[in-house]
Amino acid sequence: SLAQFSYLEPGSIRHLYLYHHAQGHKALFGLFVPSQRRASVFVLDTVRSNQMPSLGALYSAEHSLMVEKVGPELLPPPKHTFEVRAETDMKTICRAIQRFLLAYKEERRGPTLIAVQSNWELKRLAGEVPVLEEFPLVPVHVADRISYGVLDWQRLGARRMIRHYLNLDTCLSQAFEMSRYFHIPIGNLPEDISTFGSDLFFARHLQRHSHLLWLSPTSRPDLGGKEADDNRLVMEFDDQASVEINCPGCYSTVCVELDLQNLAVNTILQSHHINDMEGADSVGISFDVLQQASLEDMITGNQAASALASYDETALCSSTFRILKSMVVGWVKEITQYRNVYADNQVMHFYRWLRAPSSLLHDPALHRTLHSMMKKLFLQLIAEFKRLGSSVVYANFNRIILCTKKRRVEDALAYVEYVTNSIHSKELFHSLTISFSRSWEFLLWMDPSNYGGIKGSVPSRIHCGQGSPEEDREEEEEEEEAEAEEEEGDGAPEPDVEDKLENNWNIVQFLPQAASCQSYFLMIVSAYIVAVYHSMKEELRRSAPGSTPLRRRGPSQLSQDAPAAGALPGMITFSQDYVANELTQSFFSITQKIQKKVTGSRNSAELSSLFPQLPGSHLLLNNPALEFVKYVCKVLSLDTNITNQVNKLNRDLLRLVDVGEFSEEAQFRDPCRSYMLPEVICRSCNFCRDLDLCKESSSSQDGAVLPQWLCSNCQVAYDTSVIEMALVEALQKKLMAFTLQDLICLKCRGVKEANMPVFCSCAGAFALTIRTKVFMEQIGIFQNIAQHYGMSYLMETLEWLLQKNPQLG
Ligand SMILES: [Zn+2]
Ligand SMILES: [Zn+2]
Repeated sequence: SLAQFSYLEPGSIRHLYLYHHAQGHKALFGLFVPSQRRASVFVLDTVRSNQMPSLGALYSAEHSLMVEKVGPELLPPPKHTFEVRAETDMKTICRAIQRFLLAYKEERRGPTLIAVQSNWELKRLAGEVPVLEEFPLVPVHVADRISYGVLDWQRLGARRMIRHYLNLDTCLSQAFEMSRYFHIPIGNLPEDISTFGSDLFFARHLQRHSHLLWLSPTSRPDLGGKEADDNRLVMEFDDQASVEINCPGCYSTVCVELDLQNLAVNTILQSHHINDMEGADSVGISFDVLQQASLEDMITGNQAASALASYDETALCSSTFRILKSMVVGWVKEITQYRNVYADNQVMHFYRWLRAPSSLLHDPALHRTLHSMMKKLFLQLIAEFKRLGSSVVYANFNRIILCTKKRRVEDALAYVEYVTNSIHSKELFHSLTISFSRSWEFLLWMDPSNYGGIKGSVPSRIHCGQGSPEEDREEEEEEEEAEAEEEEGDGAPEPDVEDKLENNWNIVQFLPQAASCQSYFLMIVSAYIVAVYHSMKEELRRSAPGSTPLRRRGPSQLSQDAPAAGALPGMITFSQDYVANELTQSFFSITQKIQKKVTGSRNSAELSSLFPQLPGSHLLLNNPALEFVKYVCKVLSLDTNITNQVNKLNRDLLRLVDVGEFSEEAQFRDPCRSYMLPEVICRSCNFCRDLDLCKESSSSQDGAVLPQWLCSNCQVAYDTSVIEMALVEALQKKLMAFTLQDLICLKCRGVKEANMPVFCSCAGAFALTIRTKVFMEQIGIFQNIAQHYGMSYLMETLEWLLQKNPQLG
């Protein structure tokens, strides 16, 4: 609702500011009265020492700094008098504050609120200073990360306090705006206003439709007792199988990575179309015309005909889904019509709210319904990209890597612009945000954590061209200049290929560091990439003499002229020759060197100490030379043009390390297990993505694994304790799924229906649907992660689980 109620118009209420920060035995209190230009500061320490600088001077200095930045309107008056007291007892300070506030109250200066910023809860603070309860309190949610563990902590703390005070008016005016938008009193604004706001809007919408609320602070919705029996709410084994498309290979035309945003909101806006696409035979079609049980039926108890099976979640939550949709539609309207920033914020945080179990109106069924719709929409999107002539290298809900089949980055960018425009013009994808993030001129792709290639630099020429994509215009001008210098004249040499080379191979970390296995791996792979890239460039130059920079055509024409296969004939011959001669020679000598230096333990039953132990480790590796050969050959085999050469090379090398070509140990297996934590949301930038806890570990310079994961969008570390809680929850869900699983017949694959029979009606024996081995593998992954990241709670849960279920181990 946009109706602006006049609520606490500016000037209608005065405010005081109470600052409090406690750390150990030290604490700093500040009570500011802007209208009287004075403040009382209290220092708490184990000894009574007042090392405060002159606060008046400090205040004036900080104030004049702020005036330059934000102007005088949103600042308290320039001069304040300060009164400083040092105490050793908390009680004394609290009494002093109490007296101060009482005196203020006696003066009867009109309505006043106290803005409280404290790292304590309000209740605890009000317990110490009871008079606080008699004022309207407005909590100021500003995280104050400051350490009092230094010698001049009083000075640092005071400066921090004054800065907060100078920011107060800005904070308060924002809070007023927000409480006007959300229609809640300013003192009730919670810390996480975005999710609370969604709860609030949703509750209002539901009430308007005379719907019952299922408000619950836990992850199970309050469905009137039914939820306690329904353990399907808390089990899952396949982790909702997030959609991922992966096509390993060698791509010698320009590949681009596109970021995908707003999938959830777009899906909910287009949900009716998604159901249309499904056809008549699915649940979707009955979705909107679901019959509500009539009152008469309810009274006579004659519901059987219309009652839905209670396990049909999608149908059960169809009416709430419609209400949810009307809420989102309302926000979008506010954004497009009034450019409302608060509605925009709600839309941005919508998906985080929907999937967070801590949301008050969290309903797993609603989330699951939307998620399955997102999958359908996503597959439509992928089909659309394919229809427009590009091939998909990799795609998930956040990003899409396309092989554009274009030779030059400029052409690829023009093509991307054409494709995104044409996708946006479809109503189905109207509110999706697709933006270009990076490109490669040559890409060797295995999976998201294993790839290498030559990065494409966005040329400066594109900026003056007519068809330049908008996103590139926004790029910083420095870059433009830098590149303009590099590209003086078209004949000038390209920027150094070494700088553009990108190597991102997770498997290399599983090779021993001894005998420089890791560097040799990178050396061979890089050399191959660079050599093939050069030959490609060379051939392009030869095939189109002098005409390269001049060709500018419409994107629709361009999509036809490149050969589909991508690789040029000369390039193929070159890479085949290169592998058969140069690469084979150096590969042989390197393998021999490795074998001479480290033989590894030939005891195949245990992991050799040469190999690093990483969060994803699960194989018993013990032959460095063999693993080296396997990994390099695996990477080279991504290029299908050289399959024969690589096979021969692999055969010969295996003979060198004395391993049979078809033996079990000669087969490549990914040394890293993977555990995807679905939909991890960054707290600082709100970016949502699936996080692979095994493969995406950040490591320090010396290769040791650090106990943290970074957001791929803003590089801020995720909160490890949040991830640990998510893992414990996932573990419990898996355990529940394992415990409640069905038995299936080994012969006819039917699910066991009755309780007693020993054999199926077809005389087959029964077995578990989720086999114990699969379950134990999952447990093993959890154990590995818990060990490497020092997650004691997860470790304890796992130990308890294994101790209670000795038959599992
Ligand atoms: Zn982030
Ligand atoms: Zn059977």
